Amino acid sequence: MVATELDEVRAAAIAALEAAGDLTALEAARVAWLGKRGQISALMQRMGQLAAGERPAFGKAVNELKDEVSARLTARRATLEETARGARLAAERLDITLPGWPPRRGSLHPLTQTRREIEAIFQRMGFAVERGPEVESDYYNFEALNLPPDHPARDMQDTFYCGPGRVLRTHTSSVQGRVMARRAPPIQVIVPGRVYRRDSDHTHSPMFHQVEGLLVDREVSFGDLKGVLQGFTNQIFGASLPLRFRPSYFPFTEPSAEMDVECVVCGGRGCRVCGHTGWLEILGCGMVDPNVFTLAGYDPQAVSGFAFGMGIERIAMLRHAIPDLRLFFENDVRFLEQF
Ligand SMILES: [Zn+2]
Repeated sequence: MVATELDEVRAAAIAALEAAGDLTALEAARVAWLGKRGQISALMQRMGQLAAGERPAFGKAVNELKDEVSARLTARRATLEETARGARLAAERLDITLPGWPPRRGSLHPLTQTRREIEAIFQRMGFAVERGPEVESDYYNFEALNLPPDHPARDMQDTFYCGPGRVLRTHTSSVQGRVMARRAPPIQVIVPGRVYRRDSDHTHSPMFHQVEGLLVDREVSFGDLKGVLQGFTNQIFGASLPLRFRPSYFPFTEPSAEMDVECVVCGGRGCRVCGHTGWLEILGCGMVDPNVFTLAGYDPQAVSGFAFGMGIERIAMLRHAIPDLRLFFENDVRFLEQF
């Protein structure tokens, strides 16, 4: 009778373990059968009701039952854990063949692009790129360029003064004197960089960019200057456009000229961009003034040269038909990402 009852408990316990569909249900079955208040523990407590002679055999049988159910429990737990692991792996499966998210590429600022193109064009013509300080001495910004103190032409530029004898350079021409002080001719350099003037509206910014050019050698003529500038405009505008030189004045060149190029928008017929003249002013230039050579310690009888300077913003605006200078400095991504 007892043996039959134990068989029934065994069968019921094993059925409960096999019926458990997951680890939570299996734990509930363990508590119900093998726990301290479970059914198999309850069998043990019945030993007191048995005759003394029957107790050892009964105790042994219950212990064997307990071991067997425990072994079944361990096996069932292993099976369920394996199933759960498989399900988790399937759910977390990564498809490594899917394409990744391409990183968003930025673009160079249109002024940087234009500056680099200008540099590349002049480098192909044999010019080296020079740089100089933005906080400049009064000497290199003015005096070395034939602009002594109290020279009236200093008023042509609204200068930021930043201490005794110190200015924010008003033009990249300031590097001319520095290069000539360091080196003997021949010299063939361009100087791109930031310059500063107290001026701000839709065509002026207190900070803007220039490229200065300087070529010094023996027997350099105005014809050489025109040839270099024609070569430059052909490449930067991608067409052989007519040039026009108008007499002008700069303290550091003599003769001086402003150079116009035929309007790239209307082809010379006249439009709003060129003020209906058919011409666009591109840069200032001229033959280096003998006084500048003397100040640099060069013999003006032995060497000659030319210089030119242009605004990078101006070139970029004409190439991309940008109407307002301030767009370059607002850093609106919608504007910048078009380039
Ligand atoms: Zn035009």
